[in-house]
Amino acid sequence: MALNTEQRKQVADILKLHNYTDYKWIDPKKIIVSQWVRLKCKFGCGEYGRGGACPPQTPSVAECKEFFSEYGDAVIIHFEGLLDKPEDRHAWSARINAKLVQLERAVFTAGFERAFQMFMDSCCFCKDCTGSRETCEQPRMARPAPEAMAVDVYSTVRQAGFTINVLSNYNQKMNRFAFLMVH
Ligand code: SF4
Repeated sequence: MALNTEQRKQVADILKLHNYTDYKWIDPKKIIVSQWVRLKCKFGCGEYGRGGACPPQTPSVAECKEFFSEYGDAVIIHFEGLLDKPEDRHAWSARINAKLVQLERAVFTAGFERAFQMFMDSCCFCKDCTGSRETCEQPRMARPAPEAMAVDVYSTVRQAGFTINVLSNYNQKMNRFAFLMVH
């Protein structure tokens, strides 16, 4: 069920308090979950099987679809980044993701018991990820990225009104998106 106006304002106030201004509300039923996204994880991504919050640690594509269908309101938060060196990405993402965990907690403790954060990149908290939930070094902090939940981030954020394009080198500004499932 979607939030009422007062509840939305409550969440908007929390977002503002945490300095998030570049975001959009979306109907989670419009989040596009696709099998091709999982295939791209499985073939072509170096983190498959090595990330404790990445496939195959995350639910199946069908289970991901079901998960999103249980929500009535979500927020997509936009981040921009242009880094001097590709190797700086890990630390940049870890800093942002750690703050997103605090945001999820603030929304949860405000009474939104379903609050669940998906990061703007893979987890990135540890230099060497253990690669499984069972051995995760920070199990209370780790969360999946939307693509690890089979979300077609490109089509979903475009549909919400954001701009995103495939980048071909590190001189181009990154557009990254975190999804906060609210209710
Ligand atoms: S907290 Fe560390 S071990 Fe756990 S998923 Fe994240 S990077 Fe991997």
